[in-house]
Amino acid sequence: MSKEQKNIQDLLSFIDRSPTPFHAVNEMKSHLTEQGYSELKESSAWELSNNSKYYLTRNDSSLIAFITGTKTQDASGFKIIGAHTDSPNLKLKPNPTYEKNGYLQLGVEVYGGVLLTTWTDRDLSLAGRVILKGKKQPISKLIRFDDPLLRIPQLAIHLNRDVNEKGLALNKQNHLPPIFSLTGKKSPTKDLLEKMIAQKLKCKPADIVNMELSLYDTQPGSTGGAEGEFIYSGRLDNLASCHAALQALTESKGKDPMTRVVAFYDHEEVGSDSAQGAGSSFLKEVLERLTLESENPRETFFRSLANSFFVSADMAHAVHPNYPEKHDANHMPILNGGPVIKCNSNQRYATEGISSAWFESLCKKAGVPVQKFVVRTDLGCGSTIGPITAANLGIRTVDVGNPMLSMHSIREMAGTKDHAPLIKAFKEYFTA
Ligand SMILES: [Zn+2]
Repeated sequence: MSKEQKNIQDLLSFIDRSPTPFHAVNEMKSHLTEQGYSELKESSAWELSNNSKYYLTRNDSSLIAFITGTKTQDASGFKIIGAHTDSPNLKLKPNPTYEKNGYLQLGVEVYGGVLLTTWTDRDLSLAGRVILKGKKQPISKLIRFDDPLLRIPQLAIHLNRDVNEKGLALNKQNHLPPIFSLTGKKSPTKDLLEKMIAQKLKCKPADIVNMELSLYDTQPGSTGGAEGEFIYSGRLDNLASCHAALQALTESKGKDPMTRVVAFYDHEEVGSDSAQGAGSSFLKEVLERLTLESENPRETFFRSLANSFFVSADMAHAVHPNYPEKHDANHMPILNGGPVIKCNSNQRYATEGISSAWFESLCKKAGVPVQKFVVRTDLGCGSTIGPITAANLGIRTVDVGNPMLSMHSIREMAGTKDHAPLIKAFKEYFTA
């Protein structure tokens, strides 16, 4: 297996092991611990050394990791890459289970901009975290069922004759609840889910205080295409960017006067306004705490921000051969064509002239091709954490990401030859 293939396999297994942001953060924590990073707690006093490796989490769904610079206290600034840990999905409601027409079903909420029809007729299961009664205080446990427990069956075409002409319209309340089991005298009852969770976590059903469970697709990611040039997987948006940034950080070498930082946030898909989202104080507080040992901490902090740079990494829209009219003719990123710089004068992306030129020259230095994207003038534009963190921190920012198709589908598509170049560009950034 070539180094590139190994890297893609590593990406796919990271995504497969990360059905929810809680799992993704847990995976990244294990990797960072293996690489010699020490865990910090926001509630504890920090004693940091220069050129040392640390990480911390919020709500177990956002994570910041960094290597302190050799001159952090001299306002040398921060080199930051940000991405998001969450993906659109269907989440269980607090009291999910109900019986209907002989079936046992689970009520779901729609989280983010889900491409709903792609969740039908898939072999689905459940993952997330469960809050249990502890001896002194509640404890949180990760959970994941591996078997396909759930399915959202489509209506047969005989009962929905014009579905191919009109498209599949799904009512979110009525048509999305998956089928979990059958009801009947000998069949499962409404507390089946609690019983299954208790069995898995080796506790009593009465110990379960709360659960935050999401549906996920049990089919693992794979490569495909005539020459294995494509990746098919859920959550490429945006775990592929998290994977690339984390790898660049953990493989970055040399002593750098600047502090190298990665920030992975939950809740991007619902607007980032939460205690652990990109709109929160999380990163700002961490960065300020890094400069507290300097002679004039407040001044050093502000000067550090002015000397910093932020790369907002999120996936980009490749041109779709069946819908080329959805792209501007001069801005049609292709799969395996390299990372994309994303621009929008209405500030849906934070890129400006100087940050764009900077990233382009960085890629040139790393021998990585670059593509550019701007949405059609008559179409609305997606957004990222870029404008949010830029407004929050006042740091110069560029929005970049690898091209993909089927964004927000349960099974997305990207190119196998884009991942290594993105890591290469990020490593160039993190090189002293
Ligand atoms: Zn995204």
